Amino acid sequence: MADPTEAHICPRDGSPLVPPAESDRSAYIRHGIHHCDTCAGMLLNAEAAEDAICATKLEEMHEGFTEEGTPVDIDCPFCDAQMRVRNFAFQRIDGSLTEPIEIDGCPNCTSFWLDAGELHRLSPPANGDRTARVEANALAVVLEILFQLPIVLL
Ligand SMILES: [Zn+2]
Ligand SMILES: [Zn+2]
Repeated sequence: MADPTEAHICPRDGSPLVPPAESDRSAYIRHGIHHCDTCAGMLLNAEAAEDAICATKLEEMHEGFTEEGTPVDIDCPFCDAQMRVRNFAFQRIDGSLTEPIEIDGCPNCTSFWLDAGELHRLSPPANGDRTARVEANALAVVLEILFQLPIVLL
């Protein structure tokens, strides 16, 4: 079992992830998001999330990874298990679905990895000169909005 206080490493570039409590965004703290200042990727974990809706959503999503999903070349930053990838969409208020995004999930614990590029598909960056930190903050807001919506496993 991983030590929850230990620093987690970005599975993409090996940078240390910024833990939720050291983040300057309340969205990260409520959703328990560790983020990478290098690639703007995000690590979510149900146990780290303070927000009950978010934790419940992550636990529901985890069900979809225990038996299914395509193994990917990413080790879970929390428990080192090989992660799996699946496609998800979010259902808008009018019933339509967003573009599908790929989410890497751990079959062993309630961790998920989101590449910044996947969230960009739902919310394209305003321009090319934003830093990874600014980008990550913007994407956290996108994620916060998305998590209010029903999630659909594709
Ligand atoms: Zn990274
Ligand atoms: Zn894990």
